[in-house]
This record gives sequence, structure tokens and C-alpha cells, in this order.
Amino acid sequence: MSYFYAPPVAKLIEEFEKLPGIGHKTAQRLAFHVLNLPTEKADALANAIRNAKLKTSYCSICSNLTESDPCSVCRDVKRDQSTICVVEDPRDVVALERVREFKGVYHVLHGAISPMEGIGPEDIKIKELIKRVRDTDVREVILATNPTVEGEATAMYISKLLKPAGIKTTRIAHGIPVGGDLEYADEVTLAKAMEGRREI
Ligand SMILES: [Zn+2]
Repeated sequence: MSYFYAPPVAKLIEEFEKLPGIGHKTAQRLAFHVLNLPTEKADALANAIRNAKLKTSYCSICSNLTESDPCSVCRDVKRDQSTICVVEDPRDVVALERVREFKGVYHVLHGAISPMEGIGPEDIKIKELIKRVRDTDVREVILATNPTVEGEATAMYISKLLKPAGIKTTRIAHGIPVGGDLEYADEVTLAKAMEGRREI
């Protein structure tokens, strides 16, 4: 029980325990690890958390996390700005960039439609995508949401919105295991999923 710890220590344990996948024991271990660090290393950790939070925002074009707005991908004149790859999470952009084959740009939804969790289309960045497609010259929208029930539902929802506008809409192939996350797929699988995309 944190009760027995000095209040600042108990507070630190409590904060670690709020992190995803961290139970009480791990929280205690992390807290004591921090307490055993030299002051400058503890400061570096605290500053890294603070800076990551304060110095990043969403790109006004693609909604990816960025230090400068627009982000480096949206600013890059060598990227094909007319091909937009739609993903659920900033981590998916990192995974796809690792493959180095995609030369288009991204749109980050920050989630997927999930009636079970009460997440509707208006809770993720779909409006922003539709506006972007309407306002700019877009040739293809690649739906690279995860192959989960939520990811599929989101892809279907978006494709239905884009179809009447006559925008070519494709869905990445199922090289990625069903129920899996894009960010954990290896590079070859991701490249193949992208290559094998089909019009929907
Ligand atoms: Zn951007």
C-alpha cells in the first residue's frame, strides 16, 4: 500500500499506476528507479515528458503530431500531396514511414469508430479529412485503418462519404493479421499490404 510511503513517493507511484499496462508493483518499481536516479537524470525524464507534451501539436493539415505546423510530410514538395493515406494513430505513420515506400501524405484520425466504446464519426478526425478532400486536389484516398472490427467499420464509413465525390478510395490488403495493429506489422507485411490495396 502506498499509504506507508512518504506523500511525494506515494504520489509518484500513483501517477505511474495511471499509465497503460502498469500495475501497482511495476509502478512501485518505476518510482524507486526514479528516486535512485541522479537528480539531473530525473530532471531529464521530467523535462522529456513536459517537452513532448508542450512542444507538439496536431498538424493543421493531416492531424499528425508535429513540432512545427504544417508537419514535415505536409510541407515536403517531393511528396505526392494528392494521395492521402488514412491511419488511426500517429504510430501508424511512423510504421509506414519506416517502410520508405509510400510517397504520398497522411491523415491521422486519432481513433476508430467504435459504438461499443461510444466513439462516433464526430469523435475522430473524419470531418477534417472530408474537408481536405473537398478543398484540395486529391486523386486517391488509401484507407489504412487497422484490420479490426472498428478499423473496418471506419474504412467503410469513410468510403461511403467519399464515393459520391468520385474520389478513388482504396483499402490496404490483408497481409496484416485480422485484429492486429498496423504499428506492430513488420516492414515487408506493411509494404505488401500497401501494394495490394484494392478499390472499394
Ligand atoms: Zn501534416
